[in-house]
Amino acid sequence: MKNSWKEFQSEIDENLEDSKEKEMSLEDVKQSLLRELNDDEVSYGKELSDEVVEKNELSKELVNKFPEYRENAVKIAFERSPEEYVEFLEKNKEALSVNESKREEGCYYFNNGVFMKKEMDDEEYAEVLRHEISHYLDDKKGWYSEQPEYLKAVYDDTLSFDFNDSSTTEYRDEMLDELFDSDVCYNRHVSDILSAVSGNNPEIILRYNMEGVPYYRHQNSYFDEGHNRENEIYADVMACISENDAETIAFIKKYFPNIYEKTKESMKEGQV
Ligand SMILES: [Zn+2]
Repeated sequence: MKNSWKEFQSEIDENLEDSKEKEMSLEDVKQSLLRELNDDEVSYGKELSDEVVEKNELSKELVNKFPEYRENAVKIAFERSPEEYVEFLEKNKEALSVNESKREEGCYYFNNGVFMKKEMDDEEYAEVLRHEISHYLDDKKGWYSEQPEYLKAVYDDTLSFDFNDSSTTEYRDEMLDELFDSDVCYNRHVSDILSAVSGNNPEIILRYNMEGVPYYRHQNSYFDEGHNRENEIYADVMACISENDAETIAFIKKYFPNIYEKTKESMKEGQV
């Protein structure tokens, strides 16, 4: 089962607040973050780009799969998706069902069903929908993200995020500087990709905190189970492809080139 976008917990922000009050050193903050990582909470929030783009038309059959009162959210979710993505979604739509999440945990994907929380506003609903639908598409491709080629792409792009390897420090710093110089840092999918490839490295979390940007993640214990890490990375990258924000795509292409290419390839006919 793939889950879940939980409510943003302010655990880490509180950490930072505490550190200001008590004038903790950075090392102390880092240590306290490490302790937080053992916690079971997941932190999520929301942020969307508001660029105006061309609108996509989805088929009636597809639109009818969503709750009527979410018409606007569905429009937001896919209005600027690339043509190739819309075709991919239309071609695979048949088994899809969209349901209301009854679970406390929030939104998730299970067995052709996308389960969405009712409480979200349209923009957040759209953002999460792109992610959960991507799990559905992955499933329809026979869990494409679990195929050897995809695993290799994740492995190759993850090498740069080995914090024990000092030769890649400069590269990571450059990536983080670029991330926080743009609005891409507010994209929860990008944050979750970093969470997955870095194994929630405290240096990355610390940087998010210091920049005052919410850090969205899954727990390491979840990533380490089966192919959850690759499943989530696929869903995050495909969510960004469907969102189609130029800056976000450029960032992913640059820092996760193998993952980006492989994820994109899954939209092609005959892949798996
Ligand atoms: Zn997911």
